[in-house]
Amino acid sequence: MSDLQPMIEVSNVIKDFRSKTDLAERLAIRVGLAREPGTVHALDDVSLTIRRGEVVGLVGESGCGKSTFGRVVAGMLPATGGVVRRNGRDITALKGAEARALRLATQIIFQDPMSSLNPRKKVLDIIGEAPVFHGLVPRSGMRALVEDLMAKVGLDPAMTNRYPHQFSGGQRQRIGIARALAVNPDFLICDESISALDVSIQAQVINLLVRLREELSLTLLFISHDLSVVRYISDRVVIMYLGRVVESAPVEQIFGGARHPYTQALLAEIPRIDRRGHHFATVKGEIPSPMHPPEGCHFHPRCPFAMERCRIERPALNHASPDHTVACHLDDGFGRIEQNAGALGVTGAKT
Ligand code: SF4
Repeated sequence: MSDLQPMIEVSNVIKDFRSKTDLAERLAIRVGLAREPGTVHALDDVSLTIRRGEVVGLVGESGCGKSTFGRVVAGMLPATGGVVRRNGRDITALKGAEARALRLATQIIFQDPMSSLNPRKKVLDIIGEAPVFHGLVPRSGMRALVEDLMAKVGLDPAMTNRYPHQFSGGQRQRIGIARALAVNPDFLICDESISALDVSIQAQVINLLVRLREELSLTLLFISHDLSVVRYISDRVVIMYLGRVVESAPVEQIFGGARHPYTQALLAEIPRIDRRGHHFATVKGEIPSPMHPPEGCHFHPRCPFAMERCRIERPALNHASPDHTVACHLDDGFGRIEQNAGALGVTGAKT
């Protein structure tokens, strides 16, 4: 469990992607035959703290910026603005050996193990090469290390000479986890790591991650589009919508007392959640393009409670309780959104 010391502090991070143009396109733009390329606003002033030993579930629809967030936190992508601190140090200020140590200490486990594992390499090399390359173990100790890691993730150590295609999808994801663990990280970013797996296999991999987190004192950022998946692993859940954090709370508060209309709509999409007493419909419509996000509250075109103010003014992330933050004009931290909407005459009927 978390010892409450911040490991990752993300402050006001912005990440924009500008489309690259080739020479012909630049000439076309110059003579007015083409328009300037657009900018994708992937992260829009995101602040978030991940405590040491904590498991944070980061949830949102595809295209909301959560994978970009993971890559910025890992130092794989530079932020356009804002600061990411690891153990109190700005990660962009780290150079040489310190920067390399940071890269090893943070490992990402990706969604599709088949495309992230080299099909021409044996599992022995896939898992063992990095620790040997970085001098964490001599080449003579590589096999013993790999066998130990395979046992740790529930794979038969006798299979070190096999290739990725000789394993099932769940086993390949275990290989990906073993490869990540091989360089002794203290922070794992699981980016939709179980999304491609069958539900029963998902549960097995989640159980594995829960066990490894305890055994190795890991801190986890668990990224998923599926709110139901993060429930069983997260201490805290952060909901992201179109590059912004809209709600953050301990997992039991998200599942027992979500406040933001978007979180409520995501919960309403989970079949086994008891929806009695809820007045909202499941989230309707498509997430807008991050190239042209709506003004004001990004969620207003899909929100059943949207008011005029929502179309103009960005809601601040306010504290509903010390550990629960919500970005909604209808949430004053006291009355629930439905009550405040009623008081203001907003019916919630729009879907
Ligand atoms: Fe956004 Fe307004 Fe809906 Fe709150 S009520 S989520 S501020 S559109």
